[in-house]
Amino acid sequence: MAEEPDPEAPRDSSEWLFSFGVIADIQYADLEDGYNFQRNRRRYYRHSLRHLQSAIEEWNKEGIVPCCVLQLGDVIDGYNAQCKTSEKSLELVMDAFQLLQVPVHHTWGNHEFYNFSRDYLTNSKLNTKFLEDRIIHHPETVPSENYYAYHFVPFPEFRFILLDAYDLSILGIDQSSPRYQQCLKILKEHNPNAELNSPQGLCEPQFVQFNGGFSQDQLNWLNDVLKFSDTNQEKVVIVSHIPIYPEASDSVCLAWNYREALEVIWSHKCVVCFLAGHTHDGGYSEDPSGVHHVDLEGVIETAPDSQAFGTVHVYSDKMVLKGRGRVPDRIMNYKKELL
Ligand SMILES: [Zn+2]
Repeated sequence: MAEEPDPEAPRDSSEWLFSFGVIADIQYADLEDGYNFQRNRRRYYRHSLRHLQSAIEEWNKEGIVPCCVLQLGDVIDGYNAQCKTSEKSLELVMDAFQLLQVPVHHTWGNHEFYNFSRDYLTNSKLNTKFLEDRIIHHPETVPSENYYAYHFVPFPEFRFILLDAYDLSILGIDQSSPRYQQCLKILKEHNPNAELNSPQGLCEPQFVQFNGGFSQDQLNWLNDVLKFSDTNQEKVVIVSHIPIYPEASDSVCLAWNYREALEVIWSHKCVVCFLAGHTHDGGYSEDPSGVHHVDLEGVIETAPDSQAFGTVHVYSDKMVLKGRGRVPDRIMNYKKELL
């Protein structure tokens, strides 16, 4: 005889809500394989486009089609600028994304700025700000045009915030502009090396030219959006090309003012996950406030017989990253105060 269910027994409250895709550092170029700066990792410039195409094929045919894909930046490699193939390579990558059946949100990384100016990017297909959601009657949650950041709601009570980690940077802006001079000053104050891409001897090694940071203006806006999310019991996922939590990264590949960004995030309870790229090696850590920091493995350093992308399945009590190839699976439980 079948047992009656015990009404006192704890029930599984985990309910699947929606899913989204993640991919980072495609860095496509029509070049022979090469090596990274330290010459210890092989880079598969040509095959990275094939990796993207197969990720898109898999997302399109998944039983649970993701609601969107987050592209975490560095979509084409800086070499394209030297080879004068920036536009052609971007077109090839965008043609691949065209086959994706769901919207893609593009983040901007250092390699975008090696190829294009900020003005060019603003007018390109890499600007997906048209996908943003506006909160009526809350003008403080509307981002300024001075940086490339926005927020959107892929599912009720879940807000995704895309940040501009090169808001403070000397990349992609006119050298005669006050903004360039101001950022160069910040960089040089922290980095006395003649080669500003070198972290040698720095006590804050993240102050290199290939990184950037968040302006006070952007951090204030982030704070306002998180305040709204706290008030409205939303859960928030933040997306940025550069990571901000040292335990999930190496000491160099961090945003210049990562501590200030962490301070804003830690003053709110709504943030559940911070997704970044840039490091290529991948990394993960849950910080003391219960925010899960995921640095995704980069496509560019992924051998042709492997893969590097993931699908995050969002449940009522957790997010589950289902990684492919080099990207490991991760279970990310929400902090208790959000349950
Ligand atoms: Zn990068």
